[in-house]
Amino acid sequence: MAALRAERAALLGFASHAEFATDNQTAPSLEAIHAMLGKLAPPAVRNAHAEAELLREAAARDGIEDLQAWDWSYYSEQVRREKFSVDRAALRPYFELERVLTDGVFFAANRLYGLTFTERPDLAGYHPDVRIWEVKNEDGSGLGLFLGDYYTRDTKAGGAWMNSLVHQSALLGMQPVVVNNLNIPKPPAGEPTLLSFDEVVTAFHEFGHALHGLFSEVTYPQFSGTAVPRDFVEYPSQVNEMWMLWPEVVANFAKHHVTGEPLPQDAIDNIEAASTWGEGFGTTEYLGATLLDLAWHELAPGETVQDPEAFEAEALQRAGVALDLVPPRYRSGYFKHIFAGGYAAAYYAYIWSEVLDADTVEWFQENGGLTRENGDRFRRELLARGNSIDPLQAFRNFRGRDAAIEPLLHRRGLA
Ligand SMILES: [Zn+2]
Repeated sequence: MAALRAERAALLGFASHAEFATDNQTAPSLEAIHAMLGKLAPPAVRNAHAEAELLREAAARDGIEDLQAWDWSYYSEQVRREKFSVDRAALRPYFELERVLTDGVFFAANRLYGLTFTERPDLAGYHPDVRIWEVKNEDGSGLGLFLGDYYTRDTKAGGAWMNSLVHQSALLGMQPVVVNNLNIPKPPAGEPTLLSFDEVVTAFHEFGHALHGLFSEVTYPQFSGTAVPRDFVEYPSQVNEMWMLWPEVVANFAKHHVTGEPLPQDAIDNIEAASTWGEGFGTTEYLGATLLDLAWHELAPGETVQDPEAFEAEALQRAGVALDLVPPRYRSGYFKHIFAGGYAAAYYAYIWSEVLDADTVEWFQENGGLTRENGDRFRRELLARGNSIDPLQAFRNFRGRDAAIEPLLHRRGLA
């Protein structure tokens, strides 16, 4: 497959599939992608080694002398519990769906952008579980419709995602209709829907995509909202996750569903203290997969690989991420993203988006956080633009400069 892709790239005038695939992404060049990955690899590997030391101590207490890759997640969770006393399961009673939505997700959008949400039970969705809200600007003008389809069903795809049902377009006079899908198990009748910590993060994340669709102010539907390159589309949604634990927001929605008491501050502190634990491992295994993806797709036309395992080993070695204890997240034989999905030479997109995300979060923090002024700037310069201008130019207009990698290094404890 890699050889055929290289051959096609040559027919189209490119030196490799990777060069072809990144040509219309926001990353300016393959060199720029390698430069970014190269800044991440040394600190990630250094932290993975430091994490391994703590895991070895924990494993030694069980009589395990020689820690192996397959021991990693078990002992990592043990260290997380011991060192940071984080028990995520105990948080559920504080995350009731209705409160998370109304007093959390919608509340943050109101504080930032002045949006109001009015449920429209008179409008019929595509399934009885689908709820529909009319979204209005602060001045009362209509923005669009937001659909929420939160429960899991036998006939529904897994995971969580956002779709545009109607793309905003000035040319056609269309206002956007967007939907967020989650897969939360439906509770028995009469019982509240309690979310896991990760499901709350996901609710904020998907709503970030929804805002990208709703705020679109472009002429052509082809460039509307989330119709941006793959290495950019996750950026606004990742930014929206920051509001979940923002003090004013979490205090407003995270209340015990029976007693109404707020989520204890020490639980929030513990979650934040634990946030960099495991990032050495996570970043290294991610980088391993990303660099394998690029190695396969930087093959020149006509170049062949006789021994895939040796090829992998050499690629990881060359990139400085060859660790026996931390194998790449995917090996070539089961790397579905790049051989059966749309991510060939694009697995880097996750971290590329996160560089922009972390730098934007830092901007919000430096400028007073959850304010209407900040929200309006992000909306005007970035969320409204869709793909009607170069997305990195939109970022520059918003941030006042190109993205810096330091905030991401800091967030992952790699600084
Ligand atoms: Zn997303």
